[in-house]
Amino acid sequence: MATATQTIPMEKSVAAYVAKPRLMLINGKWVPAASGKTFPTYNPSTGEILCQVAEGDKEDIDRAVAAARAAFDKGPWRNFTPSERGRIVWKLADLLEKHAEEFAQLESLDNGKPITMSRIADIPTSVDQLRYYAGWATKIEGNTIPISAHGAKFLAYTLREPIGVVGQIIPWNFPLVMATLKLAPALAAGCTVVLKPAEQTPLTALMLGELVQEAGFPDGVVNIVTGYGETAGAALAAHPNVDKIAFTGSTEVGKLIVHAAAGNLKKVSLELGGKSPNIVFQDAEIESAIPGAANAIFFNQGQVCCAGSRLYVEDKQFDKVVEGVSQLASKIRLGPGMESTTQMGPVVSEEQMNRVCSYLESGFSEGAKAVVGGSREGTKGYFVKPTVLVNTNEKMKVVREEIFGPVVTVMPFSDVDDLVARANNTPFGLAAAVWTRDIKKAHRIASELRAGTVWINCYGVLDSAMPFGGYKQSGWGREMGHEMLNLYTEVKSVCTPIS
Ligand code: ADP
Repeated sequence: MATATQTIPMEKSVAAYVAKPRLMLINGKWVPAASGKTFPTYNPSTGEILCQVAEGDKEDIDRAVAAARAAFDKGPWRNFTPSERGRIVWKLADLLEKHAEEFAQLESLDNGKPITMSRIADIPTSVDQLRYYAGWATKIEGNTIPISAHGAKFLAYTLREPIGVVGQIIPWNFPLVMATLKLAPALAAGCTVVLKPAEQTPLTALMLGELVQEAGFPDGVVNIVTGYGETAGAALAAHPNVDKIAFTGSTEVGKLIVHAAAGNLKKVSLELGGKSPNIVFQDAEIESAIPGAANAIFFNQGQVCCAGSRLYVEDKQFDKVVEGVSQLASKIRLGPGMESTTQMGPVVSEEQMNRVCSYLESGFSEGAKAVVGGSREGTKGYFVKPTVLVNTNEKMKVVREEIFGPVVTVMPFSDVDDLVARANNTPFGLAAAVWTRDIKKAHRIASELRAGTVWINCYGVLDSAMPFGGYKQSGWGREMGHEMLNLYTEVKSVCTPIS
């Protein structure tokens, strides 16, 4: 029986939230941009303006960095005990959980993603990240170091200290998840933060700012400046009083961040693009591999840095897998984010839709064929049909470059060594997956793939506790897990003679 589609009625508080222009959080106050300018954020399901938002630029970044600097250098934040820091981050998680439905709705309105996904994936993930790092606040430890030099006895130990003022620039694909993943470890470690959300999706980060205040963070510890990348983002990346910049976004902008950060040699961590190989061997459990491969590319409209966008299938199973993934793709219900039956929403913006469609055109001009999809859907909103491309090879742009949309290229293979070389033949190295029943083969291939995460007989499993990040041009450093605390701490060695 078909389920009746229902448009989720907007919570009153969400309707009220988007009805007013949104301000920025600087030094504990909600303020307009110094220039007085605002910019629109759109509902990608309709293409209509959803809300006006303060358009921060260099001057606002200067104010926010000054507030974060003062909060770090002078306190009271630096006098909070680790336990107090942990409790306040945990309190933020509790508040977010309490307001989960409002955040889920606002996320779906601003980003376009299905409300069912915001409810079961985005918001609970954000809550979990906050709790995970709240627990770490009391467990950031140094070591005692045995010293051999100089013939005397020494006591030497290391301290892990907060790195200082952190600039965090985040993308639009998981707006709230990216905000909490950046904020939680930085705050647990004792840093202060200036967060710059993506201009396409600033709303849930701003609403989180309200909860940051309710949780009781001192003024200036968390500042949220909305605005465009070329202005606000660039000013933050270049700022001489910022000690560290954490960026998630495109590889292209990641390189700009590195250049901008060179002025004061601030520390940089980057989580960038991917073109992840998803490898299905003929001895795989095909009934799991097919939906696994479909989900690997179609989840979140394909707007996932670790999406399984290059699907390699061993010869004998090629037709079956192409048919299976295509069938699943053709059944995906496209619709507005706020409809209860929507399985795939629009992509985030008109620009992104045009970008994905121009990749499709480029693929067709180079000889690719769409088994399903291959174009925009409808004329209202920014929908792209889930697309399965065959007749593709590694010379084509659609196979080499990150499309960041619901487009998978499927390619056959026969020889394993050749397959590994093809899978690794990319400037990226974020993730990869192997589907096989042969345990030895699975682990051997996992060791040979140059990627920060390798899934075996699953795809896209991420967890607050499991490090994630890229080899090669997919990034610098690892986020999630205790590894991420290294990005927000400096190691200090202390040494003294004791004889
Ligand atoms: P996408 O191409 O997927 O939109 P981007 O890498 O352009 O991703 O954007 C990710 C984040 O980087 C956004 O918050 C955006 O505003 C910001 N950004 C874009 N350009 C710059 C820049 N030159 N300097 C700093 N931040 C930028």
